[in-house]
Amino acid sequence: MNKEIPYKIYLEEHEMPKEWYNVRADMKNKPAPILNPATLKPVTVEELSPVFCEELARQELDDTTALFEIPKDIRDFYKMYRPSPLVRAYCLEKKLDTPAHIYYKFEGNNTSGSHKLNSAIAQAYYAKQQGLKGVTTETGAGQWGTALSMACSYFDLDCLVYMVKVSYEQKPFRREVMRTYGANVTPSPSMTTEIGKKINEEFPGTTGSLGCAISEAVEAATSREGYRYVLGSVLSQVLLHQSIIGLETKAALDKYDIKADMIIGCAGGGSNLGGLISPFAGEMLRGEADYEIVAVEPASCPSLTRGRYAYDFCDTGKVCPLAKMYTLGSGFMPSANHAGGLRYHGMSSVVSQLYDDGIISARSVGQTEVFEAAQQFAKVEGILPAPESSHAIRVAIDEALKCKETGEAKNIVFGLTGTGYFDMVAYQKFNDGDMSDYIPTDEELERSLSTLPKVE
Ligand SMILES: *Cc1c(COP(=O)(O)O)cnc(C)c1O
Repeated sequence: MNKEIPYKIYLEEHEMPKEWYNVRADMKNKPAPILNPATLKPVTVEELSPVFCEELARQELDDTTALFEIPKDIRDFYKMYRPSPLVRAYCLEKKLDTPAHIYYKFEGNNTSGSHKLNSAIAQAYYAKQQGLKGVTTETGAGQWGTALSMACSYFDLDCLVYMVKVSYEQKPFRREVMRTYGANVTPSPSMTTEIGKKINEEFPGTTGSLGCAISEAVEAATSREGYRYVLGSVLSQVLLHQSIIGLETKAALDKYDIKADMIIGCAGGGSNLGGLISPFAGEMLRGEADYEIVAVEPASCPSLTRGRYAYDFCDTGKVCPLAKMYTLGSGFMPSANHAGGLRYHGMSSVVSQLYDDGIISARSVGQTEVFEAAQQFAKVEGILPAPESSHAIRVAIDEALKCKETGEAKNIVFGLTGTGYFDMVAYQKFNDGDMSDYIPTDEELERSLSTLPKVE
């Protein structure tokens, strides 16, 4: 018998996870090892250590440990904004007139406005433990840079952020939030690094890309004493930290005897999706349960649905290790009229392998339909969603409408990764009817994919 389900399911403090879950431990087909770009051999912790914090490098390469204790300092910080609510979208269900039950896990309840703080605080903690002076990073839409600024200020670390130029110009307020937390923000590509100068020379007037900002941030870290580079998505360590989302979701569902049928997440680099689905995918991998898991990506940056599963560079400057992932090629830049985030050319190697093994499926959606879903959701659920999150809303609504046809009362769970208050330029385009849906042609993708490195 189901207990009566409240609008918002919060866990008690003692029910909150004390460990992160590493889904790689339950994968028979492990994600392919990341390779040293110089030797094309699997990287070691020692080789990663000049770039990454040591403990994070260990987490990155650990395919076998299922549970990692969350240090007490991190749990104390999590308590400021966690557990995040699992919300039953009663109003949306009513509006759609669907028999489906829709739940969303809301990660926008902190100043960074997204789930990214979950990993930022962990990465800052390990940097502090190692006695570092500071960290460098890139940010696209700005949520990661904001999250890292917050985490660094909490642990009194210096924070250097390379922000993709187009966002730096479109989102001056996000930049100011970061500076308020004490971060130093530079538009990328900049003239402050060798790789930045090179990219500016090669592509004059470029508005930048994540891959390019990553290269700058790595260079900034490795050319300074006492600094390391940190990344907000894609890496397996980030998925590990983000498993807190899935563990809480599962605990909340279990508390009310709810069995999810579908789990939906938006996918940029794959960290929120990977974190949300980890415990559920783990059950599938162990043969204990079955779920339909859907990754949703923009049609303008379709790495899972149209990319190739191959080794590729993680950054434009080709300084980072090579990862085997679904990729569009490290030089891929989404069309300038792509408004939201989710711009990264590749996908987490864990998510890629789960997708290749058929544990998860993927869909791509156009940006106009995404903003339509965002508006529909905002009107009835009271939260103005981030454009990224709205990709998941789109598919959740589509699935709920299918249930209306079939009469099925499916339990649909999706990740509402954040709020969209800094995305007003994109919302303005949508409201003015100026939004267009650019889908790259096969030829364009082929051109970008032809630059994949020859490995294997
Ligand atoms: C960064 C971000 C994403 C996408 O990143 P993933 O690593 O794919 O999770 C999604 N939603 C929001 C709100 C974000 O800030």
